[in-house]
Amino acid sequence: MPVERAEAIAVNRERLSINQATTMPWSLAQAIEGYARAGVPAISVWRDKLAEMGVEPAVRHLGEAGLVVTGLCRGGMFPAADAAGRQAALDDNRRAVDEAAAIGARGLILVVGGLPEGSKDLAGAREQVHDGLAELLPYAREVGIPMAIEPLHPMYAADRACVNTLGQANDLCDQLGPGIGVAVDVYHLWWDPDLERQIARAGERILAFHVCDWLVPTRDLLLDRGMMGDGVIDIPKIRGWVEAAGYRDFCEVEIFSERNWWQRDPDEVVATCIERLATAV
Ligand code: ZN
Repeated sequence: MPVERAEAIAVNRERLSINQATTMPWSLAQAIEGYARAGVPAISVWRDKLAEMGVEPAVRHLGEAGLVVTGLCRGGMFPAADAAGRQAALDDNRRAVDEAAAIGARGLILVVGGLPEGSKDLAGAREQVHDGLAELLPYAREVGIPMAIEPLHPMYAADRACVNTLGQANDLCDQLGPGIGVAVDVYHLWWDPDLERQIARAGERILAFHVCDWLVPTRDLLLDRGMMGDGVIDIPKIRGWVEAAGYRDFCEVEIFSERNWWQRDPDEVVATCIERLATAV
């Protein structure tokens, strides 16, 4: 049964992870320090920021701050126009698995990729995603890094991810077996009439739960996400479904917001995440 807000227990800070894209102006070092200062227990790390800082210093800083690393963003981007491109993607994904292991991430988040340049073959791109995952999976298993397929809103099917529903991601998990799961992001999935059923179906394969909000109007396809509570997504309802499916782990705030939150003092953004986690998630 879905958990309604009235019965739902407010999420406290102990379950907060902040995806560092939420505080884009901060370097990884600043994010680690800033989150720890605010009592945020977990972080999701981006590879470009990790590369900037260097893996070894990052590992040291994360350890000193005592932060849990809920995920590394991101692997994926499997489809390519030719074999060399597909191989390059696989090589990069193996490096991403290694980096995730090095920083002790709980998983590697996968944005699977869209159409190769010049292609209109959506079914073919989806096949390439399946094949890329199948090739990468043995390595990720060997290293011990779970991979989370993150279905993206269909508006990104061309350029970012041709896996657009949780149903599709569940199908891939069924086909590929252990070592692969899903990331449930309310921003990408809230509109799906089949969402409740697919969350239940995902069950213990849910490896991450991402929150933010859908603004009306949305002015940019990528960089105009809202803070929880500022948009139209019934986040507590979806959290109830996720928890009914057995997920009791971190709620990860992931907000790309060029016009608003990235313009603000990141300390204020972190404080707002903490407050909204309790009132709007
Ligand atoms: Zn996400």
